[in-house]
Amino acid sequence: MRKQVLWAFLCGLLLPLVLAAVGGREASPPTVPEGESEGITISLEDRLWDAQTRIMVLTPSGNVRQMRLSEYLAGVVLAEMPTDFEDEALKAQAVVARTYTCKRMEHYKHGAAAVCMDSGCCQGFWDEEDYVNSGGSQEALDRIRSAVTSTDGLVLYYGGELIDATYFSCSGGFTEDAAAVWGQDVPYLQSVESPGEENAPRYVSTVRYTPENFCLVTGCGGEGNPSGWFGQVRYTDGGGVESMKICGKTYTGTQLRSALNLRSTLFSIRVESGMIVIETKGFGHRVGMSQYGAQAMALEGSAFEQILKHYYTGTVLRNQGGA
Ligand SMILES: [Zn+2]
Repeated sequence: MRKQVLWAFLCGLLLPLVLAAVGGREASPPTVPEGESEGITISLEDRLWDAQTRIMVLTPSGNVRQMRLSEYLAGVVLAEMPTDFEDEALKAQAVVARTYTCKRMEHYKHGAAAVCMDSGCCQGFWDEEDYVNSGGSQEALDRIRSAVTSTDGLVLYYGGELIDATYFSCSGGFTEDAAAVWGQDVPYLQSVESPGEENAPRYVSTVRYTPENFCLVTGCGGEGNPSGWFGQVRYTDGGGVESMKICGKTYTGTQLRSALNLRSTLFSIRVESGMIVIETKGFGHRVGMSQYGAQAMALEGSAFEQILKHYYTGTVLRNQGGA
């Protein structure tokens, strides 16, 4: 039904433009779509699928705000990815954000709203006006809008369904299987190499714990010299800690990440001058697309389609607008 309407709609747009090009005169005003006031000129941008699709978003103050998907996605890319990233990385992020959002629109998570603006729950959102008012550059905003419009309607599918397009900041060299982090295998969320992230600001981080504090947060019950506390470590395909024995107890990597407040599960522990030193690579859950990896691929000349295919194994791009 939607496709038929859109085709009729596109034909209504394109025919006058073609006639105008042939006749060498200005195009007739396009047909005013349902819901728009007569007399208002409708720009080509307004006719994009993202602009015609509405989304209900839960704001931090608890209100539900309706907005165009195009506006919402630009705000998500603003909030979720550094604005100075390459155009192809921004486009990849726009497609991932759109896919994530469309999946959420299948099953509303927040009552009357499909998504919220909390990056820890759904996706972050930075209102364009707030961005500019807080000193954000108009040029960067234009590049982000362009990343959204140039990928209009594009989403990722696997096996006939929209994928769960998870993403994160920095992998530390390899991404992680979904199974390793969430316990459930997802065919398109497999561990892949993610080179070129070394310049990411949070590529490596180090935290130090006194043995007492380490015991407090992990509940390991260790006594004496901590050098003897650490036993066998198992690793995931993505190089993260799957499990680690501490003082005879087995912890999963995700348990330790949470307890020790680590940036990822890709970490190593050593004892140095009586302190427990934990070195972590990467930032985030490391499942799906690495944003700094996407940037590294873009800098090497990859197009957004190649970036997406690399991080989401076996997926295909489809246009929700039916084109
Ligand atoms: Zn949410």
